[in-house]
Amino acid sequence: AHEGILRRQAQRESAARTYARSLPIVPVRARGLTIEGADGRRYLDCLSGAGTLALGHNHPVVLEAIRKVIDSGAPLHVLDLATPVKDAFTTELFATLPREFADNARIQFCGPAGTDAVEAAFTLVRAATGRTGLLAFTGAYHGMTAGALAASGGATDVQVTRLPFPQEYRCPFGVGGERGAEIAAHWSEHLLDDPKAGVPAPAGMIVEPVQGEGGVNPAPDNWLRRMREITAERGIALIADEVQTGVGRTGAFWAVEHSGVVPDVMVLSKAIGGSLPLAVIVYRSELDLWQPGAHAGTFRGNQLAMAAGAATLKYVRENRLAERAAALGDRMLARLQELRRDHPGIGDVRGRGLMIGVELVDPEAAPAGRSDRPTAPPPDPALAALVQQECLSRGLIVELGGRHSAVVRLLPPLTLTDEQATAVVDRLADALSAAER
Ligand code: PMP
Repeated sequence: AHEGILRRQAQRESAARTYARSLPIVPVRARGLTIEGADGRRYLDCLSGAGTLALGHNHPVVLEAIRKVIDSGAPLHVLDLATPVKDAFTTELFATLPREFADNARIQFCGPAGTDAVEAAFTLVRAATGRTGLLAFTGAYHGMTAGALAASGGATDVQVTRLPFPQEYRCPFGVGGERGAEIAAHWSEHLLDDPKAGVPAPAGMIVEPVQGEGGVNPAPDNWLRRMREITAERGIALIADEVQTGVGRTGAFWAVEHSGVVPDVMVLSKAIGGSLPLAVIVYRSELDLWQPGAHAGTFRGNQLAMAAGAATLKYVRENRLAERAAALGDRMLARLQELRRDHPGIGDVRGRGLMIGVELVDPEAAPAGRSDRPTAPPPDPALAALVQQECLSRGLIVELGGRHSAVVRLLPPLTLTDEQATAVVDRLADALSAAER
């Protein structure tokens, strides 16, 4: 069955698929961190639906919440109508949001995917400010619909100006931090204030507190605070895309809490649906200048997703899983840093909480920078692809990210046990040894 299914999918499905092409697995059962394939093999799943599965696969509280809705006879599809399920979800979500934000916020349910919420955020800030332009960052990923794609670096007719993300300024390798943040902030102000730079007053700025698909690039806290000042001074709405960073993943319930920045709009999806499709924006109520009926969407009332999401949010909150993610993430990061000693292919290890990236480089290739300044060895996508395959053959699923696909990304569920965290790093270390041979 395993081979047949893979062969038929390879014939029928477009090669535009991303993860699936490098992960020849046919999952038939899953629980927590573990996936079992049709061939009987078991894997530790550190992809977690690109960070969606805060509680791992098929967590009992999530299954129970879904069953409860089904058994109650409640309608499964009701468009935007108010229901007890929706009320419970919204109440739980607002209980988790930073107080100073939640106290004066509105919610808008969006289409099923993160990209729908990104588009909603864009139309909202355009309606609210009467301006059209948008600001996004190098290395960003916001989705696959036109506006989100433009903000991610795709070419569409949506007008988006790209500002530098501090990650670009981390030369010499690994010590970019403060200095990189300073340069990036300076450049952003210059681009906004120099009339010749040609950025008309934009409606909003969208930023990921930790870039995920871009290769796990944490935004320095002081830089995010500068971005908050820069946008506030110019009447630009600050949109925090917490689609991947939300619900405890980075070691705080919401990643903006690390810096204390209060955004104008938060874009939320992935984990808030407890493994089912759900996406919302939450925003400062003064921005709610949409005309009644200005925003529609058939599939934004998914009752099962709201129930699964509410159960997930509650479980993460009550069990302090954000704190656990912070502690476990620190330990995993420290162990991965240690691996650098024996693995010259590890160029950089970075992350926040259980959102971790290991960037692979070619230490023998000539650095691309100026000869008078030491720079990073170049990324090594071939090594990264090999490491991914070696991980897979050791029963560990990891995804690659970053502009060169040279960053191995770890996004395990927040319910990861200490033993599982050790097993993940052990298998990755083995895979590195095998790939470097
Ligand atoms: N924003 C961020 C930060 C994301 O990581 C993603 C998905 N990886 C999206 C938006 C788009 O979400 P979706 O794939 O559900 O459209």
